[in-house]
Amino acid sequence: MKIIDGHCHLASTRYIPQQFFEDVAANITCKMIAYGEKVSYSKILQMLLMQHNDHYGDRLIVEMDAASISRTVLLIPDFSSAMAMPLPQREIYEAHFQVTQKYPGRFYVFPGVNPLRGQVALDEFVESIENFGFHGLKLYPPCGYSPSDKCLYPFYDFCQEKSLPVLLHTGPTVQSLNLTLMPPSLICAAARDFPGVNFILAHGAVAYVEEAVELARNWPNLYIDTGGISGAIFPGKWQKQLLSVLLADIENKVIFGSDWPVTRMSGGLKNLVTGITSNPAITQQITPTALQVFFGENITRLIEGG
Ligand SMILES: [Zn+2]
Repeated sequence: MKIIDGHCHLASTRYIPQQFFEDVAANITCKMIAYGEKVSYSKILQMLLMQHNDHYGDRLIVEMDAASISRTVLLIPDFSSAMAMPLPQREIYEAHFQVTQKYPGRFYVFPGVNPLRGQVALDEFVESIENFGFHGLKLYPPCGYSPSDKCLYPFYDFCQEKSLPVLLHTGPTVQSLNLTLMPPSLICAAARDFPGVNFILAHGAVAYVEEAVELARNWPNLYIDTGGISGAIFPGKWQKQLLSVLLADIENKVIFGSDWPVTRMSGGLKNLVTGITSNPAITQQITPTALQVFFGENITRLIEGG
C-alpha cells in the first residue's frame, strides 16, 4: 500500500515561534491537571523545545521509513500577525526547499502565508511556487483572519489558475490566538466563490467533526484530514473516531495526515500507521481499496491532478 502523509511539519524551533511552544505547553499542562496528573509547565516546555531540533527533516525521514510512508506534505506555518516568527518567511521557505533537495521525491510543500501581510506575502507565495516548485497553500485563520476574507482572494485566484490545493487549520488551537476563527464553516463563502480550488479542512476528523463531515459531503471542493487524531484529544479511543469518519460515506474526501511532530507524543508515525492497518475493527469494515484511497489516492489526486 502506498502511504502519503497529507499533514506534517518540520519539528524545528527555527520555523515555529517560541510563543507557540509556550502556549502549547500551557495547554498540555492545563489538560493533564484536568486528568488529575501532576505536571510541571517548565518541564513540558523544555521537552517540547528539545523535540524540535529536526531542522533538516533527518529524524522525520527515519520515522517515515519505519512507518512505510513514501511521501509527506510539509506544511509551513506563518503566525506572523499574532506571534514573532523566528526567521523571515522567505528564509523559512528556502530552508524547506533545501529539505526537498536533500530528500528528492519524499516531500510536497505547502507554504504558509499570512494574508494580512498583503502584497509582500502574495509575492513570496507566488515566487515559492514558481522557483521552488511548492505544491499548495497553508493557512492558519486563528492568527486573525477568516478563510473567506477578501484579502485571501488574490491567493485563491492564483491557486485556482495553477490548480493548487489550499489547506486551512480548523478547530481548537492555543488560547492566545483568535478562537472565534476556528469553525470549518467559515470557508463556505470562499468555497462557493472558488469552485476550482480544493480546500482541505485540517483536523476535520478530529474537531467539529459533524460539521466538517457534512461540509465535505455536500461541497464538491471540500475535504477533511485526520491531522492530530492520535494525539491527546482521544487517548486510546482515536481508532474508533477514525472508523466513524471512514464509514461516513465520504470515501473520496478523507485524507490521511499525522500532524507529526504532534504524533511523537503518542508513539510516532509507525504506531499511527500500524494502529490503523493492524486494527481488526478497521480492516474488517474498510476494504483494502478504500484504505488505499484514504492513505494516498485522495491527497495525490489533489496535488498531482487526475
Ligand atoms: Zn498541523
